[in-house]
This record gives sequence, C-alpha cells and structure tokens, in this order.
Amino acid sequence: MKIRSVFKNFSPYSWELSNKEIAEIVGIPDDSIIRLDTNTSPFIPERWLNKLAKELVKLPVNQYPDTKYTTIADALSKYCNVDVDNIIMTNGADEAIDIVVKTFIDCNDKFIISTPTYSMFRIAAEILGGKAVEVKRKGDPLFADDIDEIIRVGKKEKASAVFLCNPNNPTGNSIKINELRKLAMELDCGIIVDEAYYEFSGKSVIELIADHPNVIIIRTLSKAFSLAGARIGYIVANKDTVNKLNYVRPPNSLSVISLKLGTIALSDIQQMKDWTKKIVSERKRCYAVLESINGIKPYTTEANFIPFKLTEKRASYVHKRLMEKGVVVRNLSEVKGLENCLRFTISTKVNNDRFLTELKNILKNSS
Ligand code: PMP
Repeated sequence: MKIRSVFKNFSPYSWELSNKEIAEIVGIPDDSIIRLDTNTSPFIPERWLNKLAKELVKLPVNQYPDTKYTTIADALSKYCNVDVDNIIMTNGADEAIDIVVKTFIDCNDKFIISTPTYSMFRIAAEILGGKAVEVKRKGDPLFADDIDEIIRVGKKEKASAVFLCNPNNPTGNSIKINELRKLAMELDCGIIVDEAYYEFSGKSVIELIADHPNVIIIRTLSKAFSLAGARIGYIVANKDTVNKLNYVRPPNSLSVISLKLGTIALSDIQQMKDWTKKIVSERKRCYAVLESINGIKPYTTEANFIPFKLTEKRASYVHKRLMEKGVVVRNLSEVKGLENCLRFTISTKVNNDRFLTELKNILKNSS
C-alpha cells in the first residue's frame, strides 16, 4: 500500500500511555491514576454542565450548527475585545493549526519553529510537505525566542510561516510584544502565535492584528476554561486574513452540544478566572517546593505547567517510577534543548502534593 512520500522520515505526535494501559502495566486501579501530563484543568465545570443538561433536550442536534457559529463567536469577540469578523471558530486549537498550515504552506515551503515548542506545528506543516527550519531558543533570557535569528533565517529561507507559542509549551515563557511587532514588520509571511495558555500569563499579542494582517492568534477553551473534552478553539486575525483562512475552514467541525457548552462558559468568565487564580497560586507554591528539592532544577513558567530538569537522576527513570505510583507526567527527555527534563501540569493542591511527595520519595530512595 502506497502512502504519501512525506511520511518517509516522519515523526508523528506521541502521547503518554492511556490510564487503562498504565493500570495494566503497573498493576494499579485506573481510577487511582492522576494525569499531570496533558496541561488540562483539574476542575470539572459542573455549574456549566448543569446548565447544559437543562437545555440539552431542546438542542437542534438534527441540524448542522450555524456555519458561522454566530452566538459563540459574538461571546468570544467580547471576551477578546475584537470584532466578530476577526474570529474563526475551530475544533480545538489543533484544528486552528491545521487551517493555518493549509492556508500558508505549499509542498517544499520552509517554515520556522522556535524550538523547543509544541510539536503539532511541525507535524501539521510536514504533512503538507512543508520543511521545518528550527531556530533554537536563547539561553539568556532563558528560552526567549531568538527573534533576530528568526528574521535572518526567515529572509534567507523565504519562509512561508513562523510558528510561535505564547506562553510556550513546554518551556512556559512569554514573547515580548515589541519583539513580535518587529518580526511582523520584517517578515511578510504568516506569523502564527499560539496562545493556548494565555489566561495563565495574562500577556497577549492580540492587539497586533489591527496593524499586521500576517499575525494570526490561536486560542482554545481547552485549558483555563476546563473544556478540553468539548474541543473548542478559535483564531483571531485581521478581517482580510480571516477571509483567506475561511477558504480552508470546514463548515461543520464543531458540535451543537459543544457550542452550547462553550457559550454557557463564556457567560461565566468569573468562574474561569477563579480557577486560573488557583492554578497560578499553586504554580508559585509548587515551584518553590521543586526548587527546594535536591536533584531538581525547575524552570519559571507563565503557564499551567512546570518543566524541570533532573540534575542527578535519569528523567526517564523518575518518569517511570512516578507512573508506577499512578502519577503521570510528561517525559521530555528526548526533546532537544530540554534533555533530562520532565513537565508537570499544575493540578489541585491534593494532586500536586501527591506528585511532590512521590517525587521526593523517589529521589530519596534511589540515592
Ligand atoms: N496548542 C498548544 C500550545 C497546546 O499545548 C495544545 C494542547 N496540548 C494545543 C494547542 C491543542 O489544544 P486543543 O485542545 O484546543 O486542540
């Protein structure tokens, strides 16, 4: 069976194992496992689900959704303080990435990624035949995007797109808006800024869309809004750019049920803000605890996760031992620039303490 030649030297997206697989391998019940690897929220939005439950029986699921998703797009335009014509709804931020690459990347086009970063930028663009050009993040300030180098390489390689992430997954640092403005002026290609974790940093570059049609912001309700399972993302861009992105946007990729839930969520922003405050305060506490543990070097972050280096033990060993205790974190050992690192998603105090205690025990007992 012949499949497309782009898959010859292709590295697909890799996940941690599922709860069921882990439970079978390590011999513990799957409901005792905590997932601190996916950067999702630990809070179940019960208030919103209860509201949805009341409206569920009336939902016109026999019809396709309104193809412009007007109600939720209106709510998002208020949340983002932009016009509704600046917004495109997507099935999660991952579909937004897909739409953007299909708009900008022709086969054999070069695109720039500021590494290490979210792997789906590379994967989605390579599937279309794009060629990744990596520009390494700087050491000082730690993990900052090397904007001057991106400009230099972007011009030299005639890049079709630059993918940035603000704050970046998995390093957790933000981009300075002036740096991005400079980039948007110097390079006449798509400058895509994934702000999936924006609510945890409070720092956005969204205002740049007014003067820079090449700046495209990707957002999601999967993180701070606790709705990863509902699959709601969106793009914010200049109106002309939105028109172009609409060439490739599929008409019905969001479900009527998710749209209702998302609209309920957006009528209750305070709830999201309360959760975000808790996560940010736990982030501060957990960072201080991690910093006090011998053999751990945590990195400061503005998102809902903390990457950390194991300075005395193998990260893969610690990752496996945590998994045996039912605590799943992301193994970054193979990620260039984050060698021997793990990443932990901030959760509730109870879950965070369980992770921190197990981590301390593993480091103590294996010395
Ligand atoms: N962008 C980044 C930077 C992410 O970390 C993730 C989730 N891991 C996504 C996009 C995908 O988000 P969504 O659930 O909205 O597809």
